[in-house]
Amino acid sequence: MVLAQLGGSISRALHQMSNATIIDEKVLNDCLNEITRALLQADVQFKLVRDMQTNIKKIVNLDDLAAGHNKRKIIQQAIFNELCKILDPGKPAFTLKKGKPSVVMFVGLQGSGKTTTCTKYAYYHQKKGWKPALVCADTFRAGAFDQLKQNATKAKIPFYGSYTESDPVRIAVEGVERFKKENCDLIIVDTSGRHKQEAALFEEMRQVSEATKPDLVIFVMDSSIGQAAFDQAQAFKQSVAVGAVIVTKMDGHAKGGGALSAVAATKSPVIFIGTGEHMDEFEVFDVKPFVSRLLG
Ligand code: GDP
Repeated sequence: MVLAQLGGSISRALHQMSNATIIDEKVLNDCLNEITRALLQADVQFKLVRDMQTNIKKIVNLDDLAAGHNKRKIIQQAIFNELCKILDPGKPAFTLKKGKPSVVMFVGLQGSGKTTTCTKYAYYHQKKGWKPALVCADTFRAGAFDQLKQNATKAKIPFYGSYTESDPVRIAVEGVERFKKENCDLIIVDTSGRHKQEAALFEEMRQVSEATKPDLVIFVMDSSIGQAAFDQAQAFKQSVAVGAVIVTKMDGHAKGGGALSAVAATKSPVIFIGTGEHMDEFEVFDVKPFVSRLLG
């Protein structure tokens, strides 16, 4: 996994710095340049990396640090904090309440793993005692309803959709109403994707969102899209009120840096990551342990 390589490169840079006899401007710059290179290679957006470097230099003022200060520790802490800052938008995702009906709408491009992730999310909550339900408002992709139905059946989660109805708004509204009546407390609406960001997709998303009034909109992003992550996430955020991000396919050859860019673009936290095709290959995302792992 390339994320591990990123972690390796960063910890190597920190290690080199630790081995230096004296920490001077050159040693600090070498270390920061090494980290910058690693982050860019992992597809973190250029501006984020540049800002991070500037911030660290502002915090770590070698001239002001008296000889007794543990400069290595201060630099390491500053790098840790800055990486956390990129991943932490400063506010948690909206918290849903068990037992109270909530609507969660999933958006993302076709192939991002949206439908798979809807079921994983439902299954995760079901195991924690929620009563989830799945609504397939993806009328664009042939086979979307069958896929959702198959996944939902496997996980024993109620589902709603249609083979004949072509209006996604209508299906979404009907599904949400039905499951509210059935006292489901987590109604998940899977929306259409497209191969690329298109006006038609965004318009459809807006309509489904207006009609179902979701409590939370989750943007699903494939971790392997690289530098495109920032623009893609921003385009979705501009159309609907994205409140959280789920990054999929973290098990593959993804560079992972896209996750950092998606947080910056949507100002929303990553709440889960997908780590495989199976229902339970799904992990809660926590910033600090993630960055700690990255730094080795
Ligand atoms: P959608 O078009 O966005 O609804 O995407 P799908 O849910 O159909 O997923 C597209 C492909 O990605 C499928 O083959 C999924 O099994 C696969 N997939 C989804 N999430 C993950 C993940 O976290 N890891 C891996 N390896 N594959 C995934």
